[in-house]
Amino acid sequence: MIPYGRQIITKEDIREVIDVLNSDFLTQGPKVPLFEEAITQYTKAKYAIAVNSATSALHLGCLALNLGAGDYLWTSAISFVASANCALYCQANVEFIDIDYETNNICMNALEEKLLSATRNGKLPKIVVAVHMAGQSCDMRRLFALSKIYNFKIIEDASHAVGAKYLGNFIGGCQYSDITIFSFHPVKIITTGEGGMALTNSESLAYKIKLLRSHGITKEKAFLIDQDRDGWYYEQTELGYNYRMSDIQAALGLSQLKRVDFYVERRMKLFDRYQDILKSTKFILPKLSSDSYSSNHLYIIKIISEGKTSNRDFVYKKLINSGIGVNLHYMPIYKQPYYVKKYGEIFLPNSEKYFNTALTLPLYPGMSYEDQDFICQELIHSLSDH
Ligand SMILES: *Cc1c(COP(=O)(O)O)cnc(C)c1O
Repeated sequence: MIPYGRQIITKEDIREVIDVLNSDFLTQGPKVPLFEEAITQYTKAKYAIAVNSATSALHLGCLALNLGAGDYLWTSAISFVASANCALYCQANVEFIDIDYETNNICMNALEEKLLSATRNGKLPKIVVAVHMAGQSCDMRRLFALSKIYNFKIIEDASHAVGAKYLGNFIGGCQYSDITIFSFHPVKIITTGEGGMALTNSESLAYKIKLLRSHGITKEKAFLIDQDRDGWYYEQTELGYNYRMSDIQAALGLSQLKRVDFYVERRMKLFDRYQDILKSTKFILPKLSSDSYSSNHLYIIKIISEGKTSNRDFVYKKLINSGIGVNLHYMPIYKQPYYVKKYGEIFLPNSEKYFNTALTLPLYPGMSYEDQDFICQELIHSLSDH
C-alpha cells in the first residue's frame, strides 16, 4: 500500500538519537532548549516551547490565554479534532466556522458574519484557532484586523505548515497571532515521533506555557514567592501537566529541521507534477494562493458527483483496492459522534460539500515519480468505467 504520508529517517537522525541514548540526559537535558532555539531562529518567533504533541501545545496555548468556563473558542469545521478539543479541555465551548471551498481554510466572510451575529447575542469568541489547511496559510491579515475589532485572540494551528510561508515570512513568526503551534507527528513535515511546539512573541505567554508544561512548577528565583531558599527549592504556583518533550525526541527534531526546506521543496515538486498530470481531467485540483508558500502537507482534490451515487466514494474504493492509500482529511468536526451528542446537528454548507467531494492523494518527500504516475493513472482510469 502506498501511504498518504510517510516520514524520512536518515542515518544522521539515527546517530543523533543514539548519542542522546548514550548521554546523561534522556529528558530535561540540553537537546530540548537547543531544538527550541533552532525553531526560533528558523521562524523568527521570540519564544518556542517544545511539548509532547501539538494537542498539548493547543491545550497550553488556550490556558495561557485564560480560556475557561463560559468562554467560546471558534475554529474551522474542517480540521483534525484537536483544533476544537483544546477548548473543551478548558471547560469552554466550541463553535465552528465554515470553510472557503477553494482554499479549504476558514471563510473570512463567514467568520465576519458570525462575529456580527455573535455581537448581538453576546457570544463573541475569546480565541479563534486558524488552521492552515494542507500547509497553506489562512488570510491572516484579514483575521488579525477582525481580531482588533472584535477583541479575540488568535492561535495558528500550523500543524500542517512547518516550513510554509505567509507574505514571504515563515509561519510560526506570529506576526498576526498570539501563539502558533506545530506538530511533529510522523505524517507531518518534520518529525520527533510524537511532539509539538508552541511559538509566541509574548514573554508572559511563553512563561505561562513553560510553567504549565511541567506541573506548574518553577525553580527560577525571580518567580519564586519565597526567594530565601536553597538550590533544591521549587514552587508549584499553577496546576500544570507533564507535557514535556524528551531529549531523544528533540535530538531527532534538531536533525530533521536541517532538512525542512528540502522536504518542502520536494513536496512542492510533487505538487507541481500532480497539477501538471491531472490538469486536463475533470477533477477539481487544489489552488495555491499568491500570498503564501504552502508546505503541501496534503494534496487534496475534489470529485464532484453528477448523479445520486458518490463519485468520490467510488474513486476512494477503487484506489484503495489498487494499493493506493487515499484518505479523507477531514470529516467536519461537528459530525463526530461526541460533538453531535454535545451540540446536536449542525450543517455548514461548504464543509458538507467538502466532506462529500474531497480526497487526499498520497504526498510525502520520499514518494517516487513512478508511484505518483501510477496513482495518477489509476485515478484517471477510476471514473472512466463508472
Ligand atoms: C496533527 C494535527 C494536530 C495534532 O497533532 P499531534 O502532534 O498529533 O497532537 C492538530 N491539528 C491539526 C490540524 C493536525 O493536523
